[in-house]
Amino acid sequence: MKILVVNAGSSSLKYQLFDMVNESVIAKGAVERIGIPGSRLTAKGNGRQKVYEQPMPDHKVAIKLVLEALTDGEIGVISSMKEIGAVGHRVVASGEYFKKPTLVDDEVIKTLEEKTFELGPLHNPAAAAGLHACMDVMPGTPMVLVFDSSFHQTMPEKAYMFGIKYEDYKAYGVRKYGAHGTSHKYVSQEAARFLGRDIKDLKIVTCHLGNGSSITAVDGGICVDTSMGFTPLDGVLMGTRSGCIDASAVEFLARKKGYDAARMVTYLNKECGVLGISGVSSDFRDLEAGMEAGNERCKLALEMFSYQTKKFVGSYAAAMGGLDCIVFTAGIGENTPYIRSGVCDGLEFLGVRLDEEANNAKNGGAREISAKDSKVKVLVIPTNEELAIARETLALI
Ligand code: AMP
Repeated sequence: MKILVVNAGSSSLKYQLFDMVNESVIAKGAVERIGIPGSRLTAKGNGRQKVYEQPMPDHKVAIKLVLEALTDGEIGVISSMKEIGAVGHRVVASGEYFKKPTLVDDEVIKTLEEKTFELGPLHNPAAAAGLHACMDVMPGTPMVLVFDSSFHQTMPEKAYMFGIKYEDYKAYGVRKYGAHGTSHKYVSQEAARFLGRDIKDLKIVTCHLGNGSSITAVDGGICVDTSMGFTPLDGVLMGTRSGCIDASAVEFLARKKGYDAARMVTYLNKECGVLGISGVSSDFRDLEAGMEAGNERCKLALEMFSYQTKKFVGSYAAAMGGLDCIVFTAGIGENTPYIRSGVCDGLEFLGVRLDEEANNAKNGGAREISAKDSKVKVLVIPTNEELAIARETLALI
């Protein structure tokens, strides 16, 4: 069975076509600038690449072109769309409406559009546009929605509630939802597989550290807590996001800077984090280079990031009453030994001992970086959200 995975943004659309017999990617590509002059699709298949430059006023035109590329005489990998058994769509926000991957029908579309758009105003309308575009050009093909937050739906009430009036939680759905759930689920399962253990017997903390970063407590394969909140702004400081901050400081800053609420949210999402601290970059490679050149603010940004991540690891060990494994994943988690070392440093009391040589070794695959005598296994597991979505889609249909 072949499964198409679609990740639609407001003006972009990424896709991968999997052959689920061996979970291989047989084609992939990205559309940029949908609805903006200069639209283009870069498509790969058959070991070749082709760039299509033509107007794409909306997602439907973009999807049509993707399907043309998939059946193209030169880079095409299928002879007709009928070969695609199902389409998995990445959706960011689920609210409390979708607790697991969901097969699309009229009712599901209604709930997606009427209930979740205000929870993910930038992302969910784009996902819906991608969904409608696929349904138009592939009528009859099963469509599955896979939500970033659904893995976190198992959190107990005490973990997901904020300390606000209960009636306001009930009326407006203001609570922790979390994000990166597809990645946390995937790497925790891969970690158990790597260790040759049943995930039901493991207490794992997964650290998805990238431009957006979140940490999750996975107890017996189930999410019991996560660091992102109502939106991805919460938790540790990130590339450009502040992470958690006293709400009174937000009001104080808004008054001092003359910002309204919407401008403040943009400030906290786009201008803060390690970019705001360093004044140099949101990219950790630049921060490391800056630190090596003696820039104290780059060093501070890196230290804050490690320190805040470490605190989540420790608090989640406490929440689960133990810790068997720490998993690092995503751009920083997979590629930045300095941060992994900084997070683990001081966690010896929990039984964490890093093998610095293994931590510093250049190796792209899943690997163990803890010392042989470390009670807690420390792993680097490359994430693969697209494959995870394809697996969820296949499982559902
Ligand atoms: P992500 O959001 O998962 O793509 O992660 C992006 C972050 O990973 C950026 O801050 C990068 O600096 C960091 N990073 C560090 N090393 C690498 C690398 N070799 N490749 C990609 N990202 C890297």
